[in-house]
Amino acid sequence: MNIINTSYDWNGSLVKRAKTTRIILHHAAAIKCTAQDIHRWHLNNGWTGIGYHFFINKQGKIYSGRPENVVGAHAGNNNLDSIGVCFEGNFEKEQMTNEQIKSGKELVSYLKGKYNIIVVQKHKDVNATACPGKNFKFSEIAYANPTKQAEKYKPSVLDFQKAAKADGYSFSKYGLDGLWGSECESIAIKATLYKGKKKNKSLIRLVQRFLCVDVDGIFGAKTKTAVLNFQTQNKLVADGIVGINTYKKILGVN
Ligand SMILES: [Zn+2]
Repeated sequence: MNIINTSYDWNGSLVKRAKTTRIILHHAAAIKCTAQDIHRWHLNNGWTGIGYHFFINKQGKIYSGRPENVVGAHAGNNNLDSIGVCFEGNFEKEQMTNEQIKSGKELVSYLKGKYNIIVVQKHKDVNATACPGKNFKFSEIAYANPTKQAEKYKPSVLDFQKAAKADGYSFSKYGLDGLWGSECESIAIKATLYKGKKKNKSLIRLVQRFLCVDVDGIFGAKTKTAVLNFQTQNKLVADGIVGINTYKKILGVN
């Protein structure tokens, strides 16, 4: 991946960003433009200059925008902890190019790894806007690569059984035998995990540990995003819900 360093004349000073917890994706809402065009437009808004940290044109070239470590101006009230990436085009009206999708995946994966980010959002997730447009290939770009750390902890079937027992499920026939059988199947069906789930805290912790998110037993937005990542990477139905197929993939049983 190559990032083309672009220099801009800033109108005022840039402020360092204290934290980086997410990536927000945009389209330019313009069929044809360059990073310098956007810089000019944003100066005309009275801003310090280009508000995005990166710009990817239709040929898939990645340009630097605002320095990566400063507060951007790309999503109202959501700039203090985010990196903004903009793609040339108007994806309400047209399709992304393959080159753009490829570069988008590379850049987002790189930034996720660098800042240990798991949250990737569309601009319209956080502000009232159509951005990045209905044809934007969000899942492909946002969930392109596994986070390396997700490989570390590999729960076993016995770990699953112990967590299920702690959550109140009983193993009548075979006990905690470490083998995936009909009892595990029926528990995995009953113990579906989803955002806002109040029960099954031990199983939620097992999944969180596996996915390298905060292990707090609370299935919140970050856990859901991590589950979506994992499902997409493993060609499961990406619904953010841990059901039997996702359990089996996590535990490595077929
Ligand atoms: Zn936007």
